Amino acid sequence: MTPDQTQLLRSPLRTVEGLDRTLLAQCGIADVDAVRRIVNRPGTGLVVTARQGNLPGVYRWACYLVEKGYDRPLLLDANRYGGNRRLPANTPFSSDWLGRQRELGLPVLTDSGYVGWGDLDGLVAILRRTAMIGDAIALLPLHLSWLRVPSARDTLLRQVRAFAVPVAIIVEYQADPFGVRGVVDGLIELLNCDVPLLLLRSDISALGALCCGAVAAAVGTRAALRHLYPMAPQPARRRWSRPAPSVVVSGCLSYKRLGTVARTKRRHPDSNLWWCGCSTCEGRDLDWILHRPERMRERLSFQHSLDALVELRDELIGPDPQRDQLTWRARCASAAYWRREVGWEPLPALDRWQQAIGLPPSDDPAFPLHRPGRSIPPQRGSERSTSPE
Ligand SMILES: [Zn+2]
Repeated sequence: MTPDQTQLLRSPLRTVEGLDRTLLAQCGIADVDAVRRIVNRPGTGLVVTARQGNLPGVYRWACYLVEKGYDRPLLLDANRYGGNRRLPANTPFSSDWLGRQRELGLPVLTDSGYVGWGDLDGLVAILRRTAMIGDAIALLPLHLSWLRVPSARDTLLRQVRAFAVPVAIIVEYQADPFGVRGVVDGLIELLNCDVPLLLLRSDISALGALCCGAVAAAVGTRAALRHLYPMAPQPARRRWSRPAPSVVVSGCLSYKRLGTVARTKRRHPDSNLWWCGCSTCEGRDLDWILHRPERMRERLSFQHSLDALVELRDELIGPDPQRDQLTWRARCASAAYWRREVGWEPLPALDRWQQAIGLPPSDDPAFPLHRPGRSIPPQRGSERSTSPE
């Protein structure tokens, strides 16, 4: 081991306090190199997720990143809770795995199993063991009901408050869990528990979580890492069907398939929704990715999407979380409007966020609804504005 490596391994333990409404990119080891160049500025970080059983591969990448001096928040997700061979929540943690994260000076994320519907014993087991460890974040991969159903949500809130350890939640559902009535409300209640909270394996709603006070939230590079799917009855079918890549359309706060973007652009060629100034697109319209070789499209799609999300995070997050919530609410309303304008179906999550946050008293001048940021003028040729939407 070189002196530099020794020094790195002795660096002070990075805890959750190092996270400050950080937007994390969640990826597998194949994408780490492409992703780390984008999430390499203040307010960003990385979650590397193991394919089931490949903890050594994730650990080798973590060592490499630490040796290369990657100094943004870095978390390692053992992913023992996902897939058809998932482990239940009462499975003991691996002390070796926790120790490896600690040795590298990373936030220690527990290698939890899945907390199913009504599995209170499993939930308590994860929280209790995390409290005994003392320096870890309790990973809670939750069945949707824990946030959606009021009685289950009350139980979750009571237990989280009682053990008072930082928690990283993942919400399992076959589609966007934050489009389901009650789930955003549950998340906001959990965020008000005075316990540091991270949201992992999410998509656009990661920005909403950050605006509402999450210390960090992760967006998956690929569709499989933007969700935790329920166990599949036909695993072989899912394994081989790879969805076409999607890209973030910033003005709509939405992921959309590249082909859909191209077709909608043909119907609405004058809309400025398609133009992107991120470091991947460099001022081109989003459908440029479709004209690249197929093998490159997925990587370019997630590079653009991360770039766009980092820009959105910088626009949305200010010093006052209460104001950020209202800014997020206004952006959701604007995004819903632009989706309607181009004929896309409503995105339930945009409505859920608006309903859950609500409006401030109309006569309270302390809460202007907008924060300056890039707005989308309706037609090309109109002046690109940085004024509030
Ligand atoms: Zn772009």
